[in-house]
Amino acid sequence: MVVLSDESQRTSGEDALSMNLTAAQAVGEAVRTTLGPRGMDKMLVDGSGNVVVTNDGVTLLEEMDIDHPAADTLVDVATTQEAEVGDGTTSAVVLASELLGEAEDLLEQDVHPSTIVEGYRTAAEVAVDALEEAAIDVDPDDEETLAQIASTAMTGKGAEASRELLSDLVVQGIRAATREDGVDEDGIIIRQFYGGSVDDSRFVPGILFDYNPSHQNMPRSATDADVLVYESSIEVAETEMDAEATVGNFEELGGYVEREKEQLEIAVEKVVDSGADVLVTSGGVDDYAQQLLAEADVMLFDRTDEEERERIANATGGNRVTDLNTMTADDLGFVGTLEQETIREHTFRRQAAKEKTMVFDDLPTGEYGTILLRGGTEHVIDEVERAIEDAVGVATAAVEDGAILPGGGAPEVEVSLALREAASGVEGRQQLAVEAFAEAIEEGPTVLAENAGHDAIDAMVELTASHDEGNTTTGIDAETGEIVDMLESGVVEPLRVKTTAVNAALDASSTILRIDDVISAGDLSVGDDEEDEGPPGGGAPGGMGGMGGGMGGMM
Ligand code: ADP
Ligand code: MG
Repeated sequence: MVVLSDESQRTSGEDALSMNLTAAQAVGEAVRTTLGPRGMDKMLVDGSGNVVVTNDGVTLLEEMDIDHPAADTLVDVATTQEAEVGDGTTSAVVLASELLGEAEDLLEQDVHPSTIVEGYRTAAEVAVDALEEAAIDVDPDDEETLAQIASTAMTGKGAEASRELLSDLVVQGIRAATREDGVDEDGIIIRQFYGGSVDDSRFVPGILFDYNPSHQNMPRSATDADVLVYESSIEVAETEMDAEATVGNFEELGGYVEREKEQLEIAVEKVVDSGADVLVTSGGVDDYAQQLLAEADVMLFDRTDEEERERIANATGGNRVTDLNTMTADDLGFVGTLEQETIREHTFRRQAAKEKTMVFDDLPTGEYGTILLRGGTEHVIDEVERAIEDAVGVATAAVEDGAILPGGGAPEVEVSLALREAASGVEGRQQLAVEAFAEAIEEGPTVLAENAGHDAIDAMVELTASHDEGNTTTGIDAETGEIVDMLESGVVEPLRVKTTAVNAALDASSTILRIDDVISAGDLSVGDDEEDEGPPGGGAPGGMGGMGGGMGGMM
């Protein structure tokens, strides 16, 4: 009986699985060479010639034009990793891809997919336990370690050369945004400013607000100031003016102008009476009203950007006011220090020009920090920003969990040893899957050594021997290929990077291993709020070839 339409394509059983395994592993192959401090960058070029150069796993996969459902599952691994920690995306994808490679071997030995899935699940539990066992406590106030964590995340990225400075900026940001219940994501703001070099990047305590007081007679700084964010303008309605433009005599006209002035005076009076020292408006403010505000020492920023207004209202603890008549003192926000600062000076036609911004600092809702990134070109500054985001992510995870691991393959070898020991206690063929998991996790340090140009087999033999002797923190020095103590080298990562990678890789490999049927379906995305293009399965057999071609072009 035929239940599928003529156009439907269907691949079943072993064929389906084997096809999915191939596609998913292709994704692992694509990112493999970027892993580690000596990993290479990839240049992605789209149809219109736009270029992205990156070493960042998730960026790479997101920019690549992947349309194979199984390959997409591996991209999800990177996305999960990015969301949970912000770093470790390449390692996680390499692990997932390797788990599938090992599974392929087991399938050839007639181990059933569900046995592999069960074995992997057992192995992942052992792995997470071993990682927790190997973890070292870290104090949120330990700035030196936090800087090392940030620095490890930035190795091998475009930011490499300025790593020391940038790590310091990240630590300052983290310190500012640390609250009682963790790190406030919105507390660290990253801003890009073109020009200069990456080394000119700096940290500014507080929030940058790119406006200057509207009137020259207004103050340029304030302390302990009340802030009114007003979602309107203070102007005379223009239509009214037009309608009355036919006024017959001067007396009438004079009376009209007087009435207008009066309206403006009333509005300004309401602002001043509210106690506001700073007024931020969405719309324009009439010159006469500006003059009155200046006389009352109120600092005005008019015609401001909605997003920035929202941020100021939130950070100062105020509300966005829509009606001056109904506002109360509670609607006002507060800022401890408000200052005008020069963010950059540059020469334009031999004239020194200064770009100024206001800095809101000492805010009631907590401290904020702005990392001000500089860089010569868009590519440079974008890659630096991605590196900074990764670094903020790992430092946040370390502060929140208080646990770190040495890098350079040390934890992977600890996990592998624990798995090989545990395997002997596992019944039946699941044992093979647990051993396979150990093989897969060793691929991390193997690739690290490979990418650094060292003999991977030698390095792994030496590294395993060292751990066997009880050196739990030794790893591969990417520069020399020597086995060194990673804590002494300051190569450290948060525990969460590795536990998340294990779980995400387990989920993805299990998902793929459980599929024995790929049927091209109608539009499955209907009612699905994901913005994913194309239904899963839609591009099945053809899509794989397309992906292979796309990646071939990229590398
Ligand atoms: P990911 O996307 O997985 O974070 P990376 O390219 O950042 O990929 O590489 C991460 C790996 O590189 C981790 O295993 C980490 O421990 C290792 N690593 C980072 N810096 C060093 C270093 N200086 N020496 C050895 N290994 C390092
Ligand atoms: Mg990394």
